[in-house]
Amino acid sequence: MPEHEKTELSELALRFIRYAGIDTASDGSSDTSPSTAVQMDFLMMLRDELIGMGMEGVELDPAGTLYAGLPGGGSGETVVGLLAHVDTSPEAPGRGVSPRVHRNWDGGPIVLEGGTVIDPSDTERMSDYVGGTIITSDGTTLLGADDKAGVAVIMEACRILMEDPGIPRPPVRVAFTTDEEIGRGMDGFDTSKFGAELAYTVDGGPVGKVDTQTFNACSAVFAIKGREVHPGSAKGQMVNAVRIASDLVSTLMHEEMPENSQGTEGYTYPMSISGTTGEAALRLILRDFTEEGMKRRLEYLDALREFMVLRYPVAGIDLKTSRQYSNPAEVLKKDPRAVEYAMRGTMEAGIRPQETAIRGGTDGSRLSFMGVPTVNLPTGGELFHSRREWVAEEGLEQSLATLMATLRTWGVEQRRSSGPI
Ligand SMILES: [Zn+2]
Repeated sequence: MPEHEKTELSELALRFIRYAGIDTASDGSSDTSPSTAVQMDFLMMLRDELIGMGMEGVELDPAGTLYAGLPGGGSGETVVGLLAHVDTSPEAPGRGVSPRVHRNWDGGPIVLEGGTVIDPSDTERMSDYVGGTIITSDGTTLLGADDKAGVAVIMEACRILMEDPGIPRPPVRVAFTTDEEIGRGMDGFDTSKFGAELAYTVDGGPVGKVDTQTFNACSAVFAIKGREVHPGSAKGQMVNAVRIASDLVSTLMHEEMPENSQGTEGYTYPMSISGTTGEAALRLILRDFTEEGMKRRLEYLDALREFMVLRYPVAGIDLKTSRQYSNPAEVLKKDPRAVEYAMRGTMEAGIRPQETAIRGGTDGSRLSFMGVPTVNLPTGGELFHSRREWVAEEGLEQSLATLMATLRTWGVEQRRSSGPI
């Protein structure tokens, strides 16, 4: 980007672009924590920026979480936490991100390198930003607004609140996590170090949306043992684990699969088959907004296993399931302020609020069950985990305005309830 163009962007957009250029992809096949060293490099940079702002209690956990707090307390007793994850999805290339800025966007498709085209009709709210400034990658990588936009918005909120201590706010704690995209963002997260009673992740999509529900999530693995015999003399002898795995998939109800699921419908998703005649594994994930629905999906897999055992009596067919995260909706009802103040904050930022269910998990779903009820706020970005990911500069500003107004609501309400000052 030429120097003269940079100055036309807001501080928030410049901060976002600076962060987006840093490689922080997580890696599900790595056993280390965090899964990639580059995430740690970015956390160290954020740590230095937070210290530079004058934040207090800045502490970088070597396993991959950065904690900090706004000094000087704030109004009231309830400490509010802000969270974003620094990693980007390994599902699309995330190295060498080179953001492109499209000013005065005319509302037409945005053509990028490598045949990547962002068609506004494929994405939810892009047409709201006609005439605005759209930020994308160059088309060969993801952009990483998920969740560098959240990181940038929280950092900018901290900067503003540090510069003007007169802005009403509650006591605020901040945490930046790693490996959210591979489901490990809350591994090793220390809620007492975090020190917040309620929290907001800034990791959502279009502005206005306040995510108060996520799926309940389980994973399942069928481990299949067959019997290997030379194919030339296999009659009546061979038990082929590959065929059994494929039979399991074709017996699943395809109307229950992700490609046939939307809104508040769940799904059962066969993700991978691996193996040979002697041994194969079928991995699935299950998603459902209700506990009853999840129970029904798990029972279906049990029944399917029993059926396959009857069909292939010589084979070994085991099923293991485990819980990944749970819908925080019930937990959030215990203290309705987290949702209520976010809805009011959104309205005060001049945006129509909408309580929504997110078709995926966030760190917040797990954190809610670790005792910190957590609501997800929007970043303004869309088409996450793809080369077509985009965010508008105006959307980033709306995301920041939503967060600031939510914190202001907390500050004002807590000051009011603690009596005249
Ligand atoms: Zn995210």
